Amino acid sequence: MGFFRSLIGNIFPHRCLRCGTLVGQTPGICTPCWDDVVHMAGPLCSCCGIPLPEHTSEDPLCGACTHHPPLFQGAKSVFIYNEASKDLVLKLKNQDKTFLAKYVAPWMVRAGSTFWNAQPVLIPTPLHWRKQFKRQFNQSALLAHHIGQQVQLPVVHGLRRIKNSPSQGTLSTQQRAQNVKNAFHADAHLLKGIKKCVLIDDVFTTGATVGACAQALKKAGVEEVYVLTLCRVVKEEPT
Ligand SMILES: [Zn+2]
Ligand SMILES: [Zn+2]
Repeated sequence: MGFFRSLIGNIFPHRCLRCGTLVGQTPGICTPCWDDVVHMAGPLCSCCGIPLPEHTSEDPLCGACTHHPPLFQGAKSVFIYNEASKDLVLKLKNQDKTFLAKYVAPWMVRAGSTFWNAQPVLIPTPLHWRKQFKRQFNQSALLAHHIGQQVQLPVVHGLRRIKNSPSQGTLSTQQRAQNVKNAFHADAHLLKGIKKCVLIDDVFTTGATVGACAQALKKAGVEEVYVLTLCRVVKEEPT
């Protein structure tokens, strides 16, 4: 199998997942593109995973989590959202590039390494059926599928998006929260007996979507909700 794979690798060398230049036998990102992506690196808020200016304690919390603890217990991401990681996210949503999910999944497995021991189930954030019909797939479900295979944990499609809210694109933090309010329904039957889950999504922006998902999941009896995304929007603190 290894021989066959290297043979295929030689005949069809892999291309950079972002810019398409040849990268050789292992799938991944070329060196210049690696220089453009920014990994989430500590110190991070122990709850929402946002980078903190300095290492204060063993379990540091950001100001937002101290004052308004989110409904999820922890959040991890691979990259900070910037032009380079945005390219990956856009590709992931492209019907011809769905193979990307398989290659970014190991990075997400590593970023969420502290989640797996508790044997949670994986729950992808759902698209409204109209959007999914148009796109023909849900990129979060693809990510969850590949992550689940690697960590050998089940994927449960326990959430449904019942409100086809407009894209969050240009909305403010408050508008985003309003936009996704009551947008999700958790299937108590499918989630019966499930106490811990990891929500899988491509981008964590303001936390409004994952917050609304966590709320629905908790209503259905899930006790601990963790969040794993490929990218995380990190806004500069207003000074
Ligand atoms: Zn590249
Ligand atoms: Zn925080």
